[in-house]
Amino acid sequence: MNPPHRPRSLLRSLVGAGLDLVFPRDCVATGEPVEDDSPCRYLSKKGLEQIFFVKDPCCPVCGFPFFGELLASRVCPHCRELEPVFACGRPLLLARDAGRDLVHALKYHHGRYLLPDIARLAAGSAGFCDHLRGATLVPVPLFPRRERQRGYNQSRWLAETFARVAGGCEVEDLLVRTRDTPSQTHLDRAQREANMRGAFALKPGVRPDPHTRYIVVDDVFTTGATLNACARVLQRGGAEHLDVAMLAHG
Ligand SMILES: [Zn+2]
Repeated sequence: MNPPHRPRSLLRSLVGAGLDLVFPRDCVATGEPVEDDSPCRYLSKKGLEQIFFVKDPCCPVCGFPFFGELLASRVCPHCRELEPVFACGRPLLLARDAGRDLVHALKYHHGRYLLPDIARLAAGSAGFCDHLRGATLVPVPLFPRRERQRGYNQSRWLAETFARVAGGCEVEDLLVRTRDTPSQTHLDRAQREANMRGAFALKPGVRPDPHTRYIVVDDVFTTGATLNACARVLQRGGAEHLDVAMLAHG
């Protein structure tokens, strides 16, 4: 005989089934319905297969994977002109194919519902968790008006999600955005760096601890200009151990 359903689990499964009827779970990458046995709620098994997870060996500065090539330079082409003030960066995945769709849905389509899936993906990446563990995560801030318009800061969502997964982490909002910088999508490296100059500051009263390891967290690393600008502000405020982490490498 089957054991009777406990009322609470029955209620939960009914609510879950009802939500799935109201909001059918389509894969953010393929658009197809997500199979019941997919490990993610909003990524089908086919969508998951299309995600490129970053693994070693990778660039020590930005974490871009070397695809097994032996490069003459220690750092990858993305970082050669960066002059990073942070030591080490690590993305969870590459912003291509399904990875790009995931970032896009998170950032532009109120993707809070994707955070449990992102947590699951992050938990499955030992290298990513090792990078984060024990650090104080500092989200890249949005300009206040932009955050009000959007209703959220996806970098703070990510920092909170990563902190839960990696263990021993805290999230601290130490930075403010002092200028509403235009979108960087169509800017080259030099323009991005100019765009970011003076765009961030420490929150009033904040004094970074020189003994704490800070990791600046953003959704995407493209040229590194944004993360580097944030790290520079923390460094000038007294931080001595600075790294970066991001959901995706552009
Ligand atoms: Zn690099």
